Amino acid sequence: MKLYSTLDKKIVEIVPNKEGCISMYSCGPTVYSRMHIGNIRAYIDWDILYRSFIYTGYKMNRVMNITDVGHMTSNDDFGSDFGDDKMDKQAEKEGVQPIDIANKYIDTVLEDFKRLHILAPNGEIIPDNLTYEDVENYGWTRATTYVPQMIEFIKKIIANGYTYETDQAVYFDVTLLPDYNIFTGQKLEDKEVGVRDEVEEDKGKKHPADFVLWMKRVGKYANHIMNWDSPWGNGFPGWHIECSAMSTDRLGEYFDIHTGGVDHISVHHSNERAQNIGAYGHPVVKYWIHNEWLVTKDDAKLSKSKGASDLDEIISSGFTPMDLRYFFLSVNYRVKLQFSIEALEGAKNARKSLEDKIISLKEYKDGKVLESYKERFIENINNNLNMSGCLALVNELLKSTEKPEDILATLLDWDKVFGFGWEELLNTQTNEFIYCEGDNVELDTLIKERIEAKSNKDYAKADKIRNKITDLGYTITDTPDGVKVTKI
Ligand code: AMP
Ligand code: ZN
Repeated sequence: MKLYSTLDKKIVEIVPNKEGCISMYSCGPTVYSRMHIGNIRAYIDWDILYRSFIYTGYKMNRVMNITDVGHMTSNDDFGSDFGDDKMDKQAEKEGVQPIDIANKYIDTVLEDFKRLHILAPNGEIIPDNLTYEDVENYGWTRATTYVPQMIEFIKKIIANGYTYETDQAVYFDVTLLPDYNIFTGQKLEDKEVGVRDEVEEDKGKKHPADFVLWMKRVGKYANHIMNWDSPWGNGFPGWHIECSAMSTDRLGEYFDIHTGGVDHISVHHSNERAQNIGAYGHPVVKYWIHNEWLVTKDDAKLSKSKGASDLDEIISSGFTPMDLRYFFLSVNYRVKLQFSIEALEGAKNARKSLEDKIISLKEYKDGKVLESYKERFIENINNNLNMSGCLALVNELLKSTEKPEDILATLLDWDKVFGFGWEELLNTQTNEFIYCEGDNVELDTLIKERIEAKSNKDYAKADKIRNKITDLGYTITDTPDGVKVTKI
């Protein structure tokens, strides 16, 4: 498979460390609120990647973290370490403990993932009854579970001489890593602009781009609720160390793919890479893969503060989770995608018309997967996840003169990658029969012509007629009892 590697700055062939097996770490949710549709884009993109690797024959060893401590409100833009802890802030707002906030929003992640057909990181379909209590059995790692590993990781970085300690924190000294800014090519001095304010918070901090590995429970954080003892005093881990410690604990000191949004390139992933080299003396991640943003009409990253909707809000606007899945899936992960209700309407209509065509094939059983189409499908996947190419192939196949049962079998096979749940759709589809001969003369004629075409084995003609019937607003299905016509 070929993917865009951010470090290589080009599309590269993915060659895993262990043949036939991909180890993959995905930066996961910070659980202080319900996911918004920007986050959902990221998770759908990586779900498609996961499914694509499985489909093309790889074994997967995948982990996704859950950040339930240490992610500061100011970490995202310029990397400042001295904001409020997102968990603490929300806990205060809701009048509960941070751990209750974490557990509550982990459950909403599970609920949303399930509705969106996003697989658990270990590849399983998320069971109905899965709660925060069992997520770690499904490939998620919770930061609060891995604090001992984070402490050990920091000890390694200290032993290798990349750190210094102040009254407030243990820092990674970025000036000691010559290629610290390899991702962005940015000069270290340019980083000073965004984080200047923070220098005021800790007079002992040497360089504005240095970042916290361990925050002490002093000063501003004297009352930080979640805290652990460490060789550097009681406190809590920095956000970036969480991902380094969890990923290497679970996937080893060499793993293949690390995913995240492009917002993570300049700070979070630059820092993770620095920590990895600081601890192990070599880079750990072979390929860093990033998804582009879902943006507003003004091209700004959609975020909670920009009023991004969550899945419930999308549903109450008249869409289904699969409309959203189709919307994200139809665009390559590296393309900025503008969100608007009109754009989502377009996805909804396209998805629905596709589904209707599939439903109309419902009664065609026991087909075989068409290998030549499958080959082309895989070519599209391997070409940097060309999902619009895959969808174009779906339409081409539906218009083809292949046997309907083979078309259906092939589409159901491809749905292992798309994840729309077509098989289930066919099993639960209960449109009642509503058409009676004589209701519509044009339709009567088309139905008769189609029956005739099929008895002459002229499937191309039969399919053309089916399209005309669809245009009239009906779905025609062949059943053992004859044709059934339902209103779309
Ligand atoms: P967070 O919970 O803020 O750490 O974000 C979780 C994931 O969602 C990260 O990988 C982010 O890069 C990604 N993300 C956040 N906002 C957007 C957006 N507007 N478009 C695409 N991905 C996003
Ligand atoms: Zn991360």
